[in-house]
Amino acid sequence: MDLLPIFWNIRDKNCVVVGGGDVALRKSRLLLRAGAKLEVIAEEFDPQFFELEKQQNLSFRKSSFESQLLSSAILVVAATDNEAVNLAVSEAANELGVPVNVVDQPHLCSFIMPAIVDRSPLLVAISSGGTSPVLARQVKELNETMLPTRIDRLARLLGSYRGKAKQRLEKFSTRLRFWESVLESEIPELVYSGQDEQAKAALDDFLENAESQDAHNSHKGEVYLVGAGPGDPDLLTLRALRLMLKADVILYDRLVSPAILKRLRPDAEKIHVGKQHAQQSVEQKHINQMLVDLAQEGKKVLRLKGGDPFVFGRGGEELETLADAKIPFQIVPGITAATGCAAYAGIPLTHRDYAHSVQFLPGHLKEGEDELDWSSLIKEQQTLVFYMSLVGLETICKCLLGAGMKANMPVAVIQQGTTDSQKVIIGELHQIAQQVAEAKLQAPTLTIIGEVVKLREKLSWYSD
Ligand code: SAH
Repeated sequence: MDLLPIFWNIRDKNCVVVGGGDVALRKSRLLLRAGAKLEVIAEEFDPQFFELEKQQNLSFRKSSFESQLLSSAILVVAATDNEAVNLAVSEAANELGVPVNVVDQPHLCSFIMPAIVDRSPLLVAISSGGTSPVLARQVKELNETMLPTRIDRLARLLGSYRGKAKQRLEKFSTRLRFWESVLESEIPELVYSGQDEQAKAALDDFLENAESQDAHNSHKGEVYLVGAGPGDPDLLTLRALRLMLKADVILYDRLVSPAILKRLRPDAEKIHVGKQHAQQSVEQKHINQMLVDLAQEGKKVLRLKGGDPFVFGRGGEELETLADAKIPFQIVPGITAATGCAAYAGIPLTHRDYAHSVQFLPGHLKEGEDELDWSSLIKEQQTLVFYMSLVGLETICKCLLGAGMKANMPVAVIQQGTTDSQKVIIGELHQIAQQVAEAKLQAPTLTIIGEVVKLREKLSWYSD
């Protein structure tokens, strides 16, 4: 993080804008909206400034800039089209230790102004760290669209109950659950649809019954078994994201990407339960038991798994234990590695001309082991996808060659698909293992075998 975002109370504090043009006017309006006591310094003023004049908190100084004019300011904005003046303002403010913003000249700023979505008291501030104001504006527009118009009213309503809730519900955790259940109730919708009185009545009711509700609810632990997809956080489902923000405790796998972990509720307890190959069965039992224990303590437990929980994910086993212990659960599917990697590598898994079927197979085989019926895999117009196939790749290729697959069958091995570290190696069945060994790929990798791999050349779109 290069900058610290803060929301600063400047009400009735001396602020200075240097400049009299339309940019200065915009900045002045913004500062006045936040209640600043504003002095605008310029030799000439855009006539529109005088429409602002009626505001008590605003004064004008018709003069050239001098550094002593900043002596009582707590914040300064320079918005002139004269570079020398902008530089002088920046230097003078820095000398005095006063935060300064020079419009469009990040190197002269000690703070920058974010793009904002103003639904006061709810404020969203967005910065691209000076890299791209246009990108920041797009993110702002996205927020503008997604946030309900009357969310300001909701924020005010909730604010007006904070004191009462604090008085009535002493325990922090009880209050937290109270506010969470308010936000999950019909109350926000009532406010958004303009039924403020009904919303208030519902909120009174909620508060009245909060303690008994909480006593009842606090025993109701539950487990969400959620697929996190293959790595790119944009591939999370909306439900996964919602539950990631709701859970009290999260048990996550080695496969869940750091970018996804960043989206978890910051104050939730996070437990890494990545499995070591050798002791897998012991650990799995332990994980199953942890899920039961945590839910029985009344917690909302998120079991977050890479890809889809029901594809080589042992999700079924975890749920059986929960079902036996009568713990309520829900399952959220995720994009499995095969579809995620295929899409980001530009390789359709089926195609009318090349493959009419696709098989997902486990690839953690040891030399000499013959777990799969290899000859049944040799079929025209079929794509094979091997999960867990980095270590066993050579064996897989040997077995397929042995069973009669053609030596020049196209193969793709995809490392860390859909992430910034995605890497795709393309080769033929008889030499791909060698290529992969040379490329020193890192787990997780996925292997796609079949004529469809040829389409990558045309359909590749994601740069890896
Ligand atoms: N439940 C997961 C699979 C778990 S098995 C899913 O549905 O995707 C673990 C294997 O998944 C890894 O060995 C690898 O083959 C594959 N895998 C998971 N994420 C991957 C990724 N981002 N890129 C390549 N392979 C991945």
